[in-house]
Order: sequence, then C-alpha cells, then structure tokens
Amino acid sequence: MTNRFLEMPDTNGYFGEYGGQIIPPELKTIMDEISAAYETVRQTETFQQELQELYADYVGRPSPIYHASRLSKKLGGAGIYLKREDLNHTGAHKINHCLGEALLAKYMGKTKVLAETGAGQHGVALATACALVGIDCEIHMGEIDIAKEHPNVTKMKILGCDLIPVTRGTRTLKDAVDSAFDEYLKDPVNFLYAIGSVVGPHPFPKMVRDFQQIVGHEAREQFLTKFGALPDVVTACVGGGSNAIGIFTAFLEDDAVELVGVEPAGKGLDTPDHAATLTLGSKGSLHGFKCYNLQDDQGEPLPVYSIASGLDYPGVGPQHCYLKDIGRVRYESINDQECLDAFMTLSRMEGIIPALESAHAVAYAMKLAPSLPKDQRILINLSGRGDKDADFVADRLNL
Ligand SMILES: *Cc1c(COP(=O)(O)O)cnc(C)c1O
Repeated sequence: MTNRFLEMPDTNGYFGEYGGQIIPPELKTIMDEISAAYETVRQTETFQQELQELYADYVGRPSPIYHASRLSKKLGGAGIYLKREDLNHTGAHKINHCLGEALLAKYMGKTKVLAETGAGQHGVALATACALVGIDCEIHMGEIDIAKEHPNVTKMKILGCDLIPVTRGTRTLKDAVDSAFDEYLKDPVNFLYAIGSVVGPHPFPKMVRDFQQIVGHEAREQFLTKFGALPDVVTACVGGGSNAIGIFTAFLEDDAVELVGVEPAGKGLDTPDHAATLTLGSKGSLHGFKCYNLQDDQGEPLPVYSIASGLDYPGVGPQHCYLKDIGRVRYESINDQECLDAFMTLSRMEGIIPALESAHAVAYAMKLAPSLPKDQRILINLSGRGDKDADFVADRLNL
C-alpha cells in the first residue's frame, strides 16, 4: 500500500507550511549533504539489513502488544492495549532512531557523533548506539542537569562517551544545545549531529520519523493478526513527537482509526507551567525549522514545564503541526496530577511502571475508555519504562 504521508516532506523539507531549513546558508549546505547521503544509504540493502538485524537481535523487536485486561475491566469501556516500547533494550523508543543515526554516521564515514541531552535519556540511548556501532560519541549536558540526573550520567560514562559539562548561561538543556552545536560546527564534514526527536532542520524530522515508523508498522500487523481488525484509537504522548509519529505513520491512511497525540498540561493550561505546544502555541520558528511554538511577543521561546522532563520542549515536530491543521490527528493534554494517577494505576493494576512521559498517554486512554463501547480497542504507545522516575514519584507521593 502506498502511504501518501510518507511522500512528505517535499524536497525542501516542508510538511505543508511547517519544517524546512531556517538556517544560515553554510549550514544549509551541510544539511543538504546529510539529506543526500541519507537518501542514498537508506536505499542500500546492506544498511537496511544491518538496521533490521539490530532491531531484532539487539533491541528485541518486535515489541509485544499487551492487553491490559485488569485496567480495561476496571474502566468498563473500550479495551486498552499497550505497544511495549518500554521492553526495548535501554527501556524506551529512543534506541530506534539512535541506532539509525549511529549507523548512518558509520556509513557516511563520520568520526564522531554529537548531541545534547537534558535529562540524559537521549544521551544514554545515543551512547549505547555509538558503543555498539564503534564510533566516538560526545554528549553536552548542562551542569545543573548533570547534578540532577546521576544514574544517566553514570551510564553515559560507562558506555564510553565523552560527557561535556556545560557551564554557560542557564547550565541546562538550552545552553547544552548551543554548546554541542558550536562543537559540531568545528568540523561538520567529519562529525554528525544526532537530533533526539522529529525536530530541527530538514532532514532530521524525516529521518527520525523513518527510523521510528517501525513501531506503527509492527503494531498494525500485530493487530491484524491477533484481532483481524485495526485499533479504533491510537494514542501517544508528544514532546518533540518522535514516538507519536512512529506509531501514527502506519495508520495515517486508515481513516477509521482515530489518532490522538497527548501533550503535557503540567500545572494547568491556565498557568505558565505547561508544554502544550500544539494546544496553545502559535506559528513561529525554533532550532532551524517552522512549527507551532510557545513563544513571547518577540518570538523568543517561553520557559516550559512538565512533570515528565522528556516532554518539556517549546516547539514540536513539523509533521505534527501539519497533521493538526488538516485534522488527521487530534491533540489533547493531560496535567501532572492525571499523569501521576495513571502512573500509579498502571503500576498497581498491571505491574507495569511506565515512564512519566508515557503515563500522559495512559491517562488520556483512561479518560476516553469508559465513553467507548466494550468491543472497541485503544492502542497506547508505551514509549518507555519508569525506572528513571520511580524515586521521584515515591518522594512526591510520600510512599
Ligand atoms: C524522550 C521521551 C519522550 C518524548 O520524546 P518524543 O520525541 O515526543 O517521543 C517520550 N517518552 C519517553 C519514554 C522518552 O524518553
């Protein structure tokens, strides 16, 4: 089956009016080279075969579909099904695109892969992929985040990556991006900047989507085999949007399948403490591409917040902006309290501790299920496991 959504973006990297390359000309040349190399490499059988083998034997794909039957029964409506990306090696969906990026770097003959990390999830997934592929990895991380995220910092060191503490400015993610980028610009011919979601200038939103779409393709096949039917609703949390686009892509042409992206409403949409970019943002540009943004009157990104650090980004992937505008995907939001409730409910009713990011999608499904008939099915992309969040939640709830 052809999927017209996979023909996007256009050659300039646009999904409708979103995306593109809003960057200086010298950087555009570099991005165009990456794009050309990617298009060549991904069509070679050796690359595809190596990637598919790693997905199977290293990541543990396909990840199972699990029927959360106790939870479904308690809610008394549609059945709830989980796509278990939390069972992947390293515990989340990020390994799917990090492996793709690290392999691409190897095929392009790059000597070093570079990135920034906030809470350290992208850093650990990338350091893992680089250790496996055998390529140098350099991660820039704010000093404040380094102090906060001890287990991830330790893992990155064990995995052999060069961890660069960022001491400038806010000493958090925002300045880590600038620091990593400065290093990248020293030798873009030999380095590859590995972006951690479906954001940034073209070709990254496309490339990361391509690497993540395996999630939806597997799920679609698994549903047809198991039930002879597609899910009625597919839902996923949205930070930059990679796990959501990963599961949505295979279903975009299935008009009967309702697709719902879930953003963090944080402390409430009527407070400044949220990161509901598609729900409340306006059009603008950020980090080299056009998208909905949470921005001030001058177009500067606003400080954003979520209980799930992987979701607090003031922009969002360009394809999501397009899918919102054409009405193919609906975007909803879930606040911190609803997220925590879902985190505890899934843990205690199914023995599955979800990442706080993923718990946003679980919370939305829990809200929706009672209003749907029992013979319908809701599929959640359970993007990651909650080991990283366990201490924080236990503290917060005085467990
Ligand atoms: C990073 C992360 C996210 C958010 O990123 P997306 O690009 O929006 O998918 C969601 N879930 C988990 C478990 C993560 O680690």
